[in-house]
Amino acid sequence: MMRARDQATTPPRTARYVIDGRPVDPPALANGLYIVATPIGNLRDITLRALDVLAATDLIACEDTRITRRLIDHYGITTPLTPYHEHNAAAARPKLLTRLAAGASLALVSDAGTPLISDPGFKLVRAARDAGHTVTALPGPSAVLAALSICGLPTDRFFFEGFLPSKPLQRRARIAELKRLPATLVLYEGGSRVAACLADLAAELGPRAAALCRELTKLHEEVRRGDLNALAAHYAGDAETRGEFVIVVAPPDERLAESIDIDTLLRDALGRLSVKEAVAEIAAVTGQPRREVYQRALTLSKDLALSKDEGFRDD
Ligand code: SAM
Repeated sequence: MMRARDQATTPPRTARYVIDGRPVDPPALANGLYIVATPIGNLRDITLRALDVLAATDLIACEDTRITRRLIDHYGITTPLTPYHEHNAAAARPKLLTRLAAGASLALVSDAGTPLISDPGFKLVRAARDAGHTVTALPGPSAVLAALSICGLPTDRFFFEGFLPSKPLQRRARIAELKRLPATLVLYEGGSRVAACLADLAAELGPRAAALCRELTKLHEEVRRGDLNALAAHYAGDAETRGEFVIVVAPPDERLAESIDIDTLLRDALGRLSVKEAVAEIAAVTGQPRREVYQRALTLSKDLALSKDEGFRDD
């Protein structure tokens, strides 16, 4: 409880912050919830807008106050912190919503990167929106995008899986579900589990191209590329596994998948139709050039004729 004399003598908190020794006064902040991305290693990856908001907001909700304290101390920010993590979220959320309802501004940060991406915050954002509060994104670092942007694997279509299950049986089952997905896969993993995770990926997906991105934006940043078998063998040995990893796995060989599908469709069509009709149907269905489908149909119809002949001889 604060006594009247303390209240009189406590100076109001200054919203000023400091960049490279230069003080900055942030603009006034409207009330509402701000989802603020923070660095995944290098403290200089913070955005100017993130600093404005963290300095001017009434309260910062964070996963681990010690980690966020290091960040805000670095920039001379004195905003109060309050914990919001998976173990206290259910109890903390109503209190944060009460503050928002009273007209406060609130920033949500995670230990690293973008909140809600394999991190807490979804239920808070949903509840704040349901209650009619403004929710504003302050985009910035995220390990998934940092890894994709430098790993040299296709980025036109990717599937962010985040953490695979930690138990081997469930992990193998989930990888099997992802096997046919026609997209680059992005996984998060901590160093202690990376070897086991890679072994399961190699066993289920075979020698697909992949990249391991370790300690991104930090002193020991490393990107190791290879096929999954080679990477699994490397990390089964005495490779450096300290730190945080993003595992990126190339999509299944699309041309192979395509030819398998066309063959299946063509075999079915050749059983019902003439070669000419089958080619017209499958070219229309798949959008593949008629000439290519025709060549494939000739090969398949020869195989089919051969197997019919063999069948006849066997009879
Ligand atoms: N919200 C974060 C984001 O936007 O990337 C992710 C939080 S998740 C709890 C932590 C995981 O992100 C780590 O286990 C690792 O897989 C990945 N990660 C975070 N920082 C990383 C870094 N500097 N280098 C590589 N991976 C990182």
